[in-house]
Amino acid sequence: YSVYFAKFLDQHNEAVGLICVIQDITEHKKLEEMQKEFVANVSHELRTPLTTIKSYTETLLEGALEDSDIAVRFLEVINHESDRMTALVQDLLELSKLDNKQIKFAMNDINLENILEDSINKYRIHSEKKNQSLIYHKPNNTFRTIGDVNRIEQVIKNIISNAVKYSPEGAIIEISIEDQNKYVKVSIADNGMGISKDDLKRIFERFYRVDKARSREMGGTGLGLAIAKEIMEYHGGKILVDSEVGVGTTFELYFLNKQS
Ligand code: ADP
Repeated sequence: YSVYFAKFLDQHNEAVGLICVIQDITEHKKLEEMQKEFVANVSHELRTPLTTIKSYTETLLEGALEDSDIAVRFLEVINHESDRMTALVQDLLELSKLDNKQIKFAMNDINLENILEDSINKYRIHSEKKNQSLIYHKPNNTFRTIGDVNRIEQVIKNIISNAVKYSPEGAIIEISIEDQNKYVKVSIADNGMGISKDDLKRIFERFYRVDKARSREMGGTGLGLAIAKEIMEYHGGKILVDSEVGVGTTFELYFLNKQS
């Protein structure tokens, strides 16, 4: 709490009144702390690839350039780290636009099942590379919602991509869509590594990652789920997750049902 006092004086400088203002600043402080943490995170996330780029470039300049095999390997690392920085800056810009309500969503009547099928097809090659089965329980009817096709596809792709990324070789990823009255529910379930209860609580926070090294290695920015949550909420929907370590993770996306 912050406390302010003001004394009222008459023309003889005698105190005739007192005002006391007590302000609850916990929310304000919390916001300030979160902002500080966010800036610290951004700086750290940008510095990590920059440090790598700098040291590989210096080694090349100091002579490693002469060995073309090493040179190619180093340049690949530099290229990869630059891509990571680009992805991070893109995600940051996107979040900032979402925060400032600058993004214009093109709201249309859309067929969710088509988007789902397209998104799944885009990740088939990735999952096959890991011998995973990406199973789609294709429904007989259609499901519609009002939303921005590109944004919704972005959310679905992010969740499928995570399931593929964080599940081991041979894992099974099952995707289904069903009518839940007010909502259309899309489930994406994997039998991968799972997420502990403590981590699960924080999974939608910006930059929160269960295993930072692993996420970075896979090209992750730690912002994907935070963005997905904002987009779902903008559409009047929600995103839920349930998980058990060693058993697997299920993400559920709820879209407002156009039919209801
Ligand atoms: P990232 O860019 O790191 O993938 P996300 O915001 O998309 O960031 O996800 C945050 C973290 O949630 C990931 O780093 C990972 O630790 C965890 N995670 C997300 N999806 C899964 C999943 N299907 N199985 C296990 N862990 C997951």
